[in-house]
Amino acid sequence: MFESLADQPPDALLALIGLHRADPRPTKLDLGVGVYRDETGVTPIMAAVREAERILLDTRTTKSYLGPEGDPVFVDLLKPIVFGVDPGPRLLGVQTPGGTGALRLGAELIAAARPGARVLIGTPTWPNHAPIFTAAGLTLVPHRFFDVAGQRLDIDALAAALESAGPGDVVLLHGCCHNPTGGDLDRAAWARVAALVRARGILPFVDLAYQGLGEGLDEDAAGVRALFADLGEGLVAYSCDKNFGLYRDRVGALFGLAATPAAAEVMRSNMIALARVNWSMPPDHGAAIVRTVLESATLTSLWRDELLRMGTRVRAVRAALAAADPRLAFLTTQHGMFSTLPIDPARIAALRADHGVYMAGSGRINVAGLQVGDAPAFVAALAAVGW
Ligand code: PMP
Repeated sequence: MFESLADQPPDALLALIGLHRADPRPTKLDLGVGVYRDETGVTPIMAAVREAERILLDTRTTKSYLGPEGDPVFVDLLKPIVFGVDPGPRLLGVQTPGGTGALRLGAELIAAARPGARVLIGTPTWPNHAPIFTAAGLTLVPHRFFDVAGQRLDIDALAAALESAGPGDVVLLHGCCHNPTGGDLDRAAWARVAALVRARGILPFVDLAYQGLGEGLDEDAAGVRALFADLGEGLVAYSCDKNFGLYRDRVGALFGLAATPAAAEVMRSNMIALARVNWSMPPDHGAAIVRTVLESATLTSLWRDELLRMGTRVRAVRAALAAADPRLAFLTTQHGMFSTLPIDPARIAALRADHGVYMAGSGRINVAGLQVGDAPAFVAALAAVGW
């Protein structure tokens, strides 16, 4: 049966983790893996999450099955955080295993409605986007979203892609904290995209995986909210894995805005049917933590404060890097944990071999992998490899 299978390349970032771990140099720096790190270099369990877990341990009486839609209270509690005002019964959501599960479920929903639909996808993007949409049988139509050499968004390329699309087509958009470039649409660009999406009848599918790690919870959702105000149909793949630090617990949701409340119910029933054949039901523990936090005013404010501090720390590292080398000034105009340096593979390899500086082969850096005090060493290593 399986003789015909070709060997698949290992995940390059996961391989990088192993290499970094094995490196004995005490001065090594890890800008590779895409998780938040605090000022002591660890990916913390947030205090609100710890407290919620304690509450769950004490109060949970069963681990019996949920349903394929997950916990509807968890989904409802997220709605105001994502959308601000609740658009009402045209908006529905189901719980998913992380943002990845939400993207896959959304892609399959689109494929069920319109097999082979075209998905406009800006490059570069999170490396898992294309395989997810392709695996669901959709057709990728790439356009340039970000010019790494010039560190500029290519809004005109995005607009041209939208102008060439129409009803039945989909556009994938990063809600905030673009991975891998940190290049986010500003208010004017979101308005331009929203106008084009509406005029052309394109379905927007927003990937919102880092809300709160950029400029703040509301600021990071401003684009989605502007887009979804006065919109016919749209999808949002949401992840709580970064903004609650729940990575391995796999917490997310797929939201859908349908044309009518009745269409929303049909959409929900299709999401549920697709969830059923994929994972039957999503894992409960992480979503129960988020629900427990959001049901408590005290825990919610604890979570918000900690998230605010995380975002502030990331911005401080960006500022420290820009201060250490003016050529990195662009970092302060970008958002979230990631940026992509215009740097060639030979220098990336030399940074690793000669200086113990680990970054993805694409030049993507996780700013949160650094401490403010690491900025001079990082900049010196860049200079030493001739960047
Ligand atoms: N979208 C983007 C842009 C991401 O960077 C990630 C995670 N790296 C995800 C979605 C998926 O997140 P999750 O871990 O919740 O599946």
